[in-house]
Formats: sequence, structure tokens, C-alpha cells
Amino acid sequence: MSSTAKAKMDEAAKARDRGRVLFVTDETLPPTFRAALESSGISVVGVAGGAAALVALRRTRPHVVVADERAKGIGAEGLARMLPQVEEGVPLILVGAAESTVERRAEAMFKGAFDYFQLPSDLRLLVARTAQLISIKQKMDALRGEADRDYLTGLANRRRFRLALNNEVERFRRYDVPCALLLIDIDHLKVINDTHGHSAGDVVIRRIGSEMTAASRDNDTAARLGGEEFALLLAGATGDKAFAAAERLREKVSSAPIEDIGVVTISIGVAACPLHAVTERNLYEASDAALYRAKREGRNRTLVAQVLGDR
Ligand code: GH3
Ligand code: MG
Ligand code: MG
Repeated sequence: MSSTAKAKMDEAAKARDRGRVLFVTDETLPPTFRAALESSGISVVGVAGGAAALVALRRTRPHVVVADERAKGIGAEGLARMLPQVEEGVPLILVGAAESTVERRAEAMFKGAFDYFQLPSDLRLLVARTAQLISIKQKMDALRGEADRDYLTGLANRRRFRLALNNEVERFRRYDVPCALLLIDIDHLKVINDTHGHSAGDVVIRRIGSEMTAASRDNDTAARLGGEEFALLLAGATGDKAFAAAERLREKVSSAPIEDIGVVTISIGVAACPLHAVTERNLYEASDAALYRAKREGRNRTLVAQVLGDR
């Protein structure tokens, strides 16, 4: 890679880590306010008025919102009420021309904001408080991300899978969008552990995880449900598409031996909504029953659930 390309990538990575502030004012954001925040490494999006703020909130996903009390539209109280609904846990700081008396600061806090500062006189305090809140918000976001993730594979964990499954089936109920569920279980992992050691078993689990990530698209959810059991939830997929995807995954795994371990195989159960089930629970059970049959019929195979009404 050329040094300019690398510099560009470093710059892009920095921009991603950098704190983002949405500054809601009545009119154009004064350049001195922007400069003060930016000189502390904070990137600033300025918008005029409450209605523009709500649009910008969704688009820019700020870590902190700073709002002028005089901003037209929603107003400070409305903003404090709306924020948790649009972006969970985004702190709000109020600013204005009036003096930052104890009463005014207390009032801001009662409304749900973190503080009130008078501008321009309290600009340094605003920058310091904003930087603090950004760092707390970034830590919260990171922790939340980890809480939903499986430590060994980086895939979604059972908790996130449950939510995704509910969302997908709900999407079918509301918009008639199909979805499919692959339940995947590694064949004879116990033998692999016994033969090559537990850490070799972990290598196998991670390998399956990365093949699943490679097989999934943007709106799909690849999850490790526990032990050596996985789920791949395919958004918008019919039974046929899901079967094809499962077979591609199974063949990919079985065709590339893992170093020092050898060939590993997986068994897969497939069920689609609405072809095989129309509730979260039944979709899971249908896929699980198909997986059970795949194991019983000899492993290293994909079996599809029975069509609704044929049972
Ligand atoms: P089957 O083909 O019937 O699925 O056989 P299996 O041996 O894979 O399945 P079984 O349910 O009999 O045993 C699961 C094995 O998976 C035993 C357990 O030690 C292993 N296992 C579960 N979680 C982990 C893990 O995190 N790491 C490793 N290395 N092994 C694990
Ligand atoms: Mg198992
Ligand atoms: Mg197994």
C-alpha cells in the first residue's frame, strides 16, 4: 500500500473513532463554537431548528447533542423527550445566552439534559463536558456491542439471535417478507476434542463461524447459540434459496480440511417462513427437527422441514 493510501485509511479510522456532536441552533452555528469543539478532536454537525435536528439525528448518529434553548421547533423539553426514542442513550446539553445560574442548570437537568452552559462565556466548559460525555457514550456503545456478541467467534449470541428472529418473523407478518432459518451443528465435535484437544475444537468452532459470516449478507444474522450449535437467519429468503445457501456452506466446510485436524463436517436443518412455519417458535422447532433428522440420517447433510399442512 502506498503511504498516501495508508494515510487516508488512518484518517478514515480516526474519523470513525472521533466523537460526533450534533449542534442544534436557532440560526447558523457560530464558527467560534465549531472551532472550539473541533480543536478538541470532535467533529460537529450543525443544524438549525428542531425538525432538522430529528432528521440529522438519524443520519449522523451523534454521541452527544448540544441544543440552543432558543432553537425553533421542538424546543429543549421536546428534544429531551424525543432523544431516547430516536437514539437510545444520547446525552443532551443545553446552551443559551442567559446566565448559567444554579437555577437554570437545575432546570435543564430536571428536563432531562446533562447541564446548561451560557455561550460564549462558558465555551470551555461546554467543550470539556462534551468530551467527557462522548467518551462515556462510546464506552457504553462498545459494551452494548460486546454484550450481544459471542466471545469465541464474534458472531451474534443467543440473545441477539432471539431479537433478530422476532424481528424477521414480525417483518413477515407486517410486510409479507419471507425469511429462513438454518440451524447448524458440527458433526462429532466430541471426537475432535478427544483426538486433538479442546483448543483444536475451538479452532473448528471459529472456522465455522467465519464461514457463516462469509455466507451472510447485510441483513442476515449469523449466531452461535451455544457449544457447537449455530444459527443463520436469512432475511428475505425463501425455502429454495435457503436450501441452496445451506448446501453451499456445508460443501465449503467439508471441502477444505483444517490444518492439523482434517476434514470437518456440519449438519444443517432448514425451515422457511411462511412455507414451514409462521411463528418464531414453530420456525425454530421446524428447523431443529430437520437438523435432528439430518444427524440421524448420517450427518454432513442439509435437510428441509416438512411443508405446513403436510404434517
Ligand atoms: P454430533 O455429530 O451428534 O453433533 O456429535 P457431537 O460430538 O458434535 O455432539 P455432542 O452433542 O455429543 O457433543 C458436543 C460436543 O461439543 C461436546 C462438547 O465438549 C463440545 N463443545 C461444546 N462447546 C464447546 C466449546 O466451546 N469448545 C470446544 N472445543 N468444544 C465444545
Ligand atoms: Mg450439538
Ligand atoms: Mg455436534
